[in-house]
Amino acid sequence: MYDTIIIGGGPAGLTAGLYTSRARLKSLLIEKGFPGGQVMTTEWVENYPGFDEGVSGAELSRKMEKQATRFGLEITQGSVIDISIDDNIKKITLEDNNEYETKTIILATGSNPRLLKIEGEDTYRGRGVSYCATCDGAFFKDEQLAVIGGGDSAVEEGLFLTRFAETVYIIHRRDRLRATKILQERAFANPKIKLVWDSVPEKIAGDDSGVQSLHIKNVKTGEQSRLDIRGVFIYAGYNPNTGFLKGLVSLNENNYIITGENMSTSTPGIFAAGDVREKSLKQIATAVGDGATAGVAAEKYIEENF
Ligand code: NAP
Repeated sequence: MYDTIIIGGGPAGLTAGLYTSRARLKSLLIEKGFPGGQVMTTEWVENYPGFDEGVSGAELSRKMEKQATRFGLEITQGSVIDISIDDNIKKITLEDNNEYETKTIILATGSNPRLLKIEGEDTYRGRGVSYCATCDGAFFKDEQLAVIGGGDSAVEEGLFLTRFAETVYIIHRRDRLRATKILQERAFANPKIKLVWDSVPEKIAGDDSGVQSLHIKNVKTGEQSRLDIRGVFIYAGYNPNTGFLKGLVSLNENNYIITGENMSTSTPGIFAAGDVREKSLKQIATAVGDGATAGVAAEKYIEENF
């Protein structure tokens, strides 16, 4: 029987684990892939305090994991498919049929890239269509690439791709970027970046060797055009990983978990932290704050209820 089980090993989950294990709660973190979450696929992080020159996403993830496990956090790999509650004890079932019992749960499952759902996206996934510039950018030396989206991810990763590519088209559906000003300034100043405004992707086309072109449409004029590119990096936002919860806790209309100020969900003893919950700012800095709050709230809940 665990005191707390944390589901998801990004910054929110690892920080929750740091706090619960330092509070001497028997703590297990279940992670589908490798600890680190989305940060692991971020090349360089420069707005997380404490690293004056910035830090690579992989290095930051490794440090967070090492710090949490130093205090006794156990980490296991697995995919949660079911959670049930019996007499305030929560039972977690994994895909491989392993089961764990716990007094509290901290949901820190983050979110997954939103798909465009256009022709060719699925066909060329891994053959020119990518959701991770850090992972795949180096395959496109001196090529023409397209990035879809106008948020922080699209612009930051577009800038990263200019290290390899000859030209990076950032295709945005409006005439103004959503990204932070400093990223906008860098994009406007980078000669390899070409912004394509008011445009949406309609089709990704290619052949046996992979992606060859992207068909786009200007939403203001209706004009359709084709860009000859070898890679499309999609950064159209994220969807929360809450499908497996099946009504266990209340979600908002976009399927994010609704939490109180102490990260409590609608179900007693279940907390949520990080990008998976409804909140205004999704950053590593806010995820770790959520994780700390949820960890302390779980400790308090156990004191009062067990
Ligand atoms: P985001 O802020 O939700 O931006 C998604 C972008 O994709 C928007 O520009 C959106 O257009 C566009 N978009 C959405 N659906 C689309 C579709 N079907 N077709 C074409 N374009 C579409 O997502 P994000 O950039 O991944 O960022 C997620 C969160 O992480 C944000 O809170 C962000 O601040 C944070 N983040 C921060 C950093 C950093 O601080 N360095 C880095 C990465 C991410 P509209 O603008 O028209 O809606």
